[in-house]
Amino acid sequence: AATEFGHQIRRVTLEKQSEIRIQVHPFSPLKLRVLDGLVEIFGSELPPEVWLTFPPRQQFAVFTWYGATIELDGVTETEETSTETPMVSYLNVHNSLQVQRHRVVSSTSNYVSSQWPRVIIVGDTDSGKSTLAKMLLNWAAKDGFKPTFVDLNIGQSSITIPGTIAATSIKMHVDSVHGFPLDNAIVHYFGHTTPTNNLRLYKALVEKLARELEEVFARSAESRHSGMVIDTMGWTNGPGYELLIHAIRKFNASLVIVLGQETDLVNDLNNSLKFKKNVRILNLDKSTGVFFRGSDYRKTLRNNNIKKYFHGATNDLTAYTKTAKFSDVKVYRIGDFPESRSRSAQRTYNDDALKITSVEIGEHLLNKVLAISYAKEPNQIISSIVAGFVCIKDVDIGKERITYISPSAAEFPSNILVMGTLTWLET
Ligand code: ADP
Repeated sequence: AATEFGHQIRRVTLEKQSEIRIQVHPFSPLKLRVLDGLVEIFGSELPPEVWLTFPPRQQFAVFTWYGATIELDGVTETEETSTETPMVSYLNVHNSLQVQRHRVVSSTSNYVSSQWPRVIIVGDTDSGKSTLAKMLLNWAAKDGFKPTFVDLNIGQSSITIPGTIAATSIKMHVDSVHGFPLDNAIVHYFGHTTPTNNLRLYKALVEKLARELEEVFARSAESRHSGMVIDTMGWTNGPGYELLIHAIRKFNASLVIVLGQETDLVNDLNNSLKFKKNVRILNLDKSTGVFFRGSDYRKTLRNNNIKKYFHGATNDLTAYTKTAKFSDVKVYRIGDFPESRSRSAQRTYNDDALKITSVEIGEHLLNKVLAISYAKEPNQIISSIVAGFVCIKDVDIGKERITYISPSAAEFPSNILVMGTLTWLET
């Protein structure tokens, strides 16, 4: 049948254990529905018959274990079917985690943290880390568990906007279009998309989040037994490697999955962790379906991610535009970063990585994405989670007013806003 756009609805038949890999057109969405059989997108099963709309640029695979027929309506940028997938090896990991989870649930000895599955996924950028994390979480949720997703990937954050270190509990499968649930997520604002801007702050936030999750696990046996899946940055050498080891230790990981052909990384990890008991290292193939995303494209994705925060996944929300007097808000930055100092002064400031400094409100805040902190006092900023984000749209020096957008009409929990280097220019 021809659609309103004049193109045909296409039917695609997928044989068992195969997938169709799709990149949606950069400017127009794609509609898709399941006609027959069971299919999943990164572990999340699609409902039968219902047309789902995927936003421009989205990259995903529709996979079937037993064979299925789907229909596509719209133009795709790329489209390819493949029977060569690492899905069986990924499902095997899930099955072994399930054995572990059931063993903990039925065990009478209480509270041995090393027994809960705590998976950390490491590897190069574009090795499919976030994707595998999604699958493991979705499959666990489908089997009735409530795993915690920990997102340390500040460059391409999955829970909320870039520059955040966050965790959320997965109760239902992750929505293939709208992504991870934001309600009851624990979110810390790092404020930069690269950790080099402040390595100490990155570590401090990771440690803080790890402690907060221990508190959650102490209260909830269900979360505790379900364990966690941790997604990391694609930076695996030098300081990036140090950060990985730091995260493995702080979250007490029981399984490190290395994605892709990374013999050196696997050897290094084996060496670094040889005295740490109860941690296993597993090297798995990356999928040939993973899309390569160049640095420009990553930037576009980051912008889209921020846009999604303010305007919804399918551009279906209108952000609130509000104004505030300069005196109504206080803006702070943590430590010092390239933008806030001259190059020559760079080295001398290292000791102040965690220092909280008040920032004067001015035009330099234009297009900045600021976090709304729960901190009541500036010295609580690093240890506090954030309530959400605003983007500064106008700074009127004469009237001493700022205009900003926010996805929520709610009052701020405090007047403290946190600034980093993250900016967003609406296009
Ligand atoms: P990483 O987290 O390692 O940077 P991602 O998991 O984000 O990598 O994958 C990179 C991109 O490739 C994402 O857009 C993801 O949706 C896409 N992708 C991953 N696996 C597949 C697949 N099998 N088929 C199609 N697209 C995929």
